[in-house]
Amino acid sequence: AKRDGRAHYQYFSPEMNVEMLERMHLEQRLRKAVKQSEFYLEYQPVIDMHSGEVTSVEALVRWQDPDYGVISPQAFIPIAEEAGLIEPLGEWILQQALSDLAQWHAQGLMLKMAINVSARQCIHSRDISFFDILKQTLAKHDIAAENLHIEITESMLIEDKPQCLQTLESIKQLGVDIYLDDFGTGYSALSYLTQCPISVIKIDKSFIDNALDNPSDAKLIKAIVMMAQSLEMPLVAEGVETVEQWHFLRNLGCDYAQGYLMSKPLAKAELVEFLRHAKPF
Ligand code: C2E
Ligand code: CA
Ligand code: CA
Ligand code: CA
Repeated sequence: AKRDGRAHYQYFSPEMNVEMLERMHLEQRLRKAVKQSEFYLEYQPVIDMHSGEVTSVEALVRWQDPDYGVISPQAFIPIAEEAGLIEPLGEWILQQALSDLAQWHAQGLMLKMAINVSARQCIHSRDISFFDILKQTLAKHDIAAENLHIEITESMLIEDKPQCLQTLESIKQLGVDIYLDDFGTGYSALSYLTQCPISVIKIDKSFIDNALDNPSDAKLIKAIVMMAQSLEMPLVAEGVETVEQWHFLRNLGCDYAQGYLMSKPLAKAELVEFLRHAKPF
């Protein structure tokens, strides 16, 4: 019994207790935050490398906690997914982003909007499907499906493939394009690129980071560009921070770029200012 007790005690080590408590605490706060909508969106411009103009913005969620300040999505999205909070949160994000988009359109700013969607949202365990929510929200704000695209990751195409794939097919049919985010960081076969309804590929920032000092990363980027071109899929480079990276990518034939060089994610009002004063990049 003593051994068991010790084993038990070791399992719940003090560090782990603290971790679990913090985790539970965070989950509770997140639950409350979803109820009270303690979130806001920032928008990062995506630039057409040929024309130098902003063509779309990617909506990125932030959590404004009254005590802790702004919390990064990398810290809370995984918890929201596990705690079953990503569906209500995702719905809020969609509503907010499309409401902002409708406002910009009314002001004559003809942008497109990108929204990140996690696998859980697509698989849905509720009475209303993600597809229906998407369709209804577009209709509510009177936005044509062509003005919205969603970003998904490779893992979404692997896990729970049949249901996810079906949902993605209907979304694509509706006119909402599907972008493959963080390309190159997964461990999947390339066959899904043609089997799934993917329209655009986003090369992960980690490749762009080392593009100019690491010859093998440069070669990988070249290979990805060639592959995308032969599949006739436009390519977005994310995390472009320097002019050298911009030139390298543009010379290779990359189509769109996103990164701190052009703009960080901006609050709604800042984005409008940015667009008013932006000259083609
Ligand atoms: P992501 O979709 O790959 O988004 C790109 C991330 O890279 C963003 O971080 C953006 O701020 C950052 N970034 C863009 N350009 C640069 C650059 O030049 N340099 C550097 N260092 N970073 C750059 P963020 O906003 O912290 O978001 C992190 C991740 O959280 C996102 O990665 C996405 O996976 C997730 N996320 C964000 N918003 C949402 C959302 O509304 N829904 C879901 N499901 N996930 C979201
Ligand atoms: Ca994204
Ligand atoms: Ca990404
Ligand atoms: Ca990423």
